[in-house]
Amino acid sequence: MLERWRERDVFRESLRRREGADRFVFYEGPPTVNGPPGAHHVLARVFKDIFPRYKTMQGYYVERKGGYDCHGLPVEIQVEKQIGSTGKEDIERFGIGRFNALCRESALSHIEVWNRLTERIAFWVDLDDAYRTMDADYVESVWWALKSLHDKGLLYEGHKVVPYCPRCGTALSSHELGLPGGYLDIVDPSIYVRFPVVDARPPLEPRDELLAWTTTPWTLVSHAAIAVDPGLRYVRARGDEGNVVVLAEARVEALLGEDAEILDVFDGADLLGTRYEPPFPYLPAVVYGPKGHSVVEADFVSAEDGTGLVHTAVAFGEDDFRLGQEQGLNVVNPVRPNGTFDDRAGPYAGRNVREAADDLIEDLRGRGRVFRAESYEHAYPHCWRCGTPLIYYATPSWYIATSTRRDELLAANETVTWYPEHVKHGRFGDWLANNVDWALSRARYWGTPLPVWRCDNGHVEVIGSLGELEQRSGTRLDDPHRPFVDEVTFPCAECDAAMARVPEVIDVWFDSGCMPFAQRHAPYEDQELFEATFPADYICEALDQTRGWFYSQLAISTLLFDQSDFRSVLCLGLILDAEGRKMSKSVGNVVDPFEVLDRYGADAFRWYFFTSKQPWDGYRFNLETIGESVRQLLLPLWNTYAFYVLYANVNGVDRVDAPPATNLDRWTLSRLNGTVEVVRERLDDYDATLSGRAIAAFVEDLSNWYVRRSRRRFWDGDPAAFATLRTCLVTVAKLLAPFTPFVADELYDNLDGTEPSVHLTSFPEPGPRDLGLETAMAVVRETVRLGLAARAQAKVKVRQPLREAVVVAAGAERQAIERLGDLVREELNVKALRFVSAADELGQYEVKPNYRSLGPRFGHQMPLVADAVQALDAAHIAAAVREGREIGISVDGHDHTLGADDLLLVMRPLDGYQLEREGSHAVALDLELDDALRREGLAREIVHAVQTARKDAGLAVEDRIELALGGDAELLDAARAHEAYVRGETLARSLSYEADGSAASATIDGRELRIAVARA
Ligand SMILES: [Zn+2]
Ligand SMILES: [Zn+2]
Repeated sequence: MLERWRERDVFRESLRRREGADRFVFYEGPPTVNGPPGAHHVLARVFKDIFPRYKTMQGYYVERKGGYDCHGLPVEIQVEKQIGSTGKEDIERFGIGRFNALCRESALSHIEVWNRLTERIAFWVDLDDAYRTMDADYVESVWWALKSLHDKGLLYEGHKVVPYCPRCGTALSSHELGLPGGYLDIVDPSIYVRFPVVDARPPLEPRDELLAWTTTPWTLVSHAAIAVDPGLRYVRARGDEGNVVVLAEARVEALLGEDAEILDVFDGADLLGTRYEPPFPYLPAVVYGPKGHSVVEADFVSAEDGTGLVHTAVAFGEDDFRLGQEQGLNVVNPVRPNGTFDDRAGPYAGRNVREAADDLIEDLRGRGRVFRAESYEHAYPHCWRCGTPLIYYATPSWYIATSTRRDELLAANETVTWYPEHVKHGRFGDWLANNVDWALSRARYWGTPLPVWRCDNGHVEVIGSLGELEQRSGTRLDDPHRPFVDEVTFPCAECDAAMARVPEVIDVWFDSGCMPFAQRHAPYEDQELFEATFPADYICEALDQTRGWFYSQLAISTLLFDQSDFRSVLCLGLILDAEGRKMSKSVGNVVDPFEVLDRYGADAFRWYFFTSKQPWDGYRFNLETIGESVRQLLLPLWNTYAFYVLYANVNGVDRVDAPPATNLDRWTLSRLNGTVEVVRERLDDYDATLSGRAIAAFVEDLSNWYVRRSRRRFWDGDPAAFATLRTCLVTVAKLLAPFTPFVADELYDNLDGTEPSVHLTSFPEPGPRDLGLETAMAVVRETVRLGLAARAQAKVKVRQPLREAVVVAAGAERQAIERLGDLVREELNVKALRFVSAADELGQYEVKPNYRSLGPRFGHQMPLVADAVQALDAAHIAAAVREGREIGISVDGHDHTLGADDLLLVMRPLDGYQLEREGSHAVALDLELDDALRREGLAREIVHAVQTARKDAGLAVEDRIELALGGDAELLDAARAHEAYVRGETLARSLSYEADGSAASATIDGRELRIAVARA
C-alpha cells in the first residue's frame, strides 16, 4: 500500500486538489531526532495525522510542514559522551567549533529511522520541506523575535537565584523543572545545628543555643543570618544534654519531647539582632555586611517543620536571596559554576558541594554543634537531561519579563480550546497565573546564540538578523552559531568602545516556540504565508508540554502578536507498561514501535491509540493489547468484506445498484447514516475515541446482525442485499480513512476505486434516518439477546427448533417486535411468538423469608416467622414489594411489619419453560419437544455436518455435490422427512441413503452419521 501511495503520489495529490480551498492550519511540534523514536512518538504522530486527514477529506487545504528540534543540552550531552567530556572545561579544550560540528551531525543522527517510522505509521507530513531549528534562516527569525522583545523592553539581564545544573554549568528555567524527570525522590541529610549566642541579652542568657534546621548542609559554609517570625512564640527550653536551646514553641514537642522543661516564652521580635557563632569560620560576619551572623526578621518562616529559626545563605535560595535584598545582606557565593567550593571555603575548596556534605556534618559534630542529624526523603529537582541534582544558585542570567504580561497570557489562554478541558484552567492556567520571568539564557554551546552585544560601558545592542550584523560589523556569517558569532565585534553606537557578544545561547524551548514564523523565515521571507497560517487550528503533543512547547509558543505569540498561536490543543497522556510502570531501558519494558508494526501492522497500532482510551488518560501498554484492537475492529471488518467478495463472485454480482428491499436493509442504512452523524460530530470536537468506537459498533452491527440475518439473500443473489452491504462497506472505508488509512484504502480500492485512493474522496455526509425502525430493531435485538440467553441456560442448541417464545412486551415495544417478528423467530428458531403484558404471567412468584435480616430480629421465633411468610399470597406480596409498601404478619399473637428487604421474591417459571429476564424485559421459551420438532432439529444438525464435510473435502461454496448419508436410522428418518431442505442447503443434486463404512463419520446427539460427498 505504501508503494501504491508513492506511485500514485496520493499525499501530494490530496494537497493539490485542495489548493485554494479554506485552510485548516496544523503546526508540527518539532521532535528531537538524535535518538530512536519510541511508542510515545507513535502516539503523538498518529494523533497529529488523524485530524488533518479528516479535514482534508472535508475539503480543507491542510498543509503539513514537518520540523525538527536540533539544538540544546540533549544533543550536547550525547556529544559529550562521544568525546569523553566530563564538563565544560573538556568541551573548551576540545574546541567549541569542533564540538558544535559534532552536535550538528548528532542532531539529525536518527532522522532516517524517524522518517521510516513516520511513513510506516502513515503520518502524512512533508518531510522534504521540514524546518530545522539549527538552520541559519530559522535562527535569524528567532533573532528577530528576541530583538522585538528587547524593543518592547521585555528582555533583561538579572541576578537571581535559579535552579542550576552544576554538571551542565547552566541555569534551567522554571518550566523545565516541570518536565518528566524534573523532580525525583532522594534522601538528603537533615540536620539541626546549634548556634551559641555571643552577646546574650534578655530573654537570652550566655551559652544559650539557637537551633536551626537545614537539608543542604553545604550551604552552612556561607551561612549569612538566622531568620525568625517576630510574631511567632519562641521558648528557651532545657535541651537533651542539660544545655538551653531556643526554638519555636510549636516545635518543642517534636524536638524535645512532651516532658521538655520550658524556661521562658517570648516573641520572635525579642530575638532580633541577637549575634551568635556561625557554623564555619571561613566567611566572617563582615563579608555579609552589618547584619551578618545575626537574627533578622522574615515573612517566610514557618513552624510546621524545622525549628522556627531559619538558616539563610543568600546565594542559594530564592527566599534567602530576597531576604538578603531586604536586610542588606551581601550576596556571597563561594561555589564555582561547576558546583565546587572556591578558595574561600578553607579545607573544602575544590570539593563538590553535595559530596562534601558528610564531611561537613562530621566537622560540625566534632565541635559539638550538631543537635540532631537524620536523613530526609523528599522530591528534589534534578536536571531533566543529565539527571544531576540541581542546586539553587545566584547567577546572572537573561530573562524575558513574561510575568509583566501575565494578564495578556491568561487572556490568550481563554481563546484556546483544550482537550481535555480541565487543563485550561488547571495545569496550564495555574502555570500562567503563577508565571515567573522566563530564564532564557544558557551558559552552553550548541544553541541559538543570544544576539546581544555589549561594550565595557554596559551599553547593549540586540541584533535582529544576519544582514543587520553584517551592516554593523562588516562580517557576513554563513553559520550563526558559536564560535563564529563570538568573534564578531563592532564599535558601540553610543561610546565607540568595542562591543562583543555575551557568551550565552538560549533555551531550546524558545526555538520551538518561534516555529509559527521561524519555519517560514518570516518576517524576512514569506511573511504573507505566515500571516495566512497563523494561528494554528490544531496542535497536539504530550500533556507535559504545558510547561514546554505549549507554554513557549503561547508566551512568544502573546508577547509578539498579542494572541495565542493555536486555537485547539489536544494533550496526550503517558504510556506505561501493562503493570503501570514507566517504560525505561533499565526495567527492560520499553516497547520497540517497529516490533509492534511488524507483528500487528500500523492500522492496529493506530486504532489502539485512538479508541482504547481518551488519549490524555494515558495508556497501559504491551504488545498483546494491540491484538485486542485487531479483534475489535479489523477482524470483523475483514470478515464482512471477505463475505461480500465471496458471494459477489459466486453470484457474478459487480456493483449492482438497487434500492433497499427489506427492513433490515433500511435499518442498516439508517444505522450507517447515524454513524456518519456521530463520527463527524465527534471528529469536529477532536474526539477520535468516541468517533472510532461508533464506527466499530456499526461494523459489529453490520457483521453480527445485518449479514448474519441476511445470509440467505446473499446466497440467493438478492441485488438489494449486495447494494446495501457494498454501500455500508464503502462508507465505512471512507469513515475509517483517517483512522486506519491502509485497510480503508484496500477496501475502497477493491469495492469502489473511482478515485486513485480513498484519501482523495470526500468524507461521507449523513443521509436520512428512520429512527422508528432503529428503535424497533433495538427492542428486537434485546428480545433476541434474552431468548438466546434462555436457550444457553437450558442448554438447548439454536439448531433445535422450539414451539414458541413468550415475550413480555406491550404498546410500542410489542408493535416493534411484531413488525420485525420474522427476525425474532428466525434468530431464536421458534415457530411462534406470543406476547404477555407482564412478567407475572410467565411464571409464579414464591415468597421466602430473608433469614439474614429477619434472623437477628426474631431469634428463636424464626420458624414461626417463616411459616407466616410462606402463608402470604405471593402475587399480592410481589405487587406490594414493587410499590414499596410494607407487609404485616402476625407471629404468636403479635403484629409485625416487614419491609421489602425482609422478603425474597423468586420467579418460578411455568413448567416446561425457560425464562430469562432483565429489568422489565423478559422472554420465556417453551422447551417441550414433539417428534416433528426433534426431527427438524436433527435435519439441521445433518445439514451442519454435511457443510463441514464439504469444507473438509475442499469444495467451493457454490460447488454442487452428490450426497450419500448412512448410519443411525433415526437420523436418516429425519433427513428423509426434510429431504428438500437438506438438499437445498447443501447444494446436493442427489441424495442417497447408502453411504458405506468408507464415508466420513460425524456424531449427532450420540448417534453416528456417515457422510459421503462428491463434486457433481
Ligand atoms: Zn545537567
Ligand atoms: Zn558603549
